[in-house]
Amino acid sequence: MFILNGIEQLTNAITKAKKIRPRVEFDCFGRYRVSGSKGYYTVICRKDERGYKTVACTCKGAERGLACYHAAAALSLHIGLARRQATA
Ligand SMILES: [Zn+2]
Repeated sequence: MFILNGIEQLTNAITKAKKIRPRVEFDCFGRYRVSGSKGYYTVICRKDERGYKTVACTCKGAERGLACYHAAAALSLHIGLARRQATA
């Protein structure tokens, strides 16, 4: 799991996601399934009790606190949905 401070920290992950183009499946708001090399990973985007945006992924990289491309792929969908909710 990592705390999202800004889009800059995702630059590498976004580049990788654009290259790999994983499949992102919507589960519910803030919860997505992203295809990876070993099947699907679950990515959970939420705000914690202190107001930090946290992103958790079930892959090995995210376990070590890295911003993985699954998270980047899920976040691009999540941010779009969050914007739509805010303007609805
Ligand atoms: Zn991941």
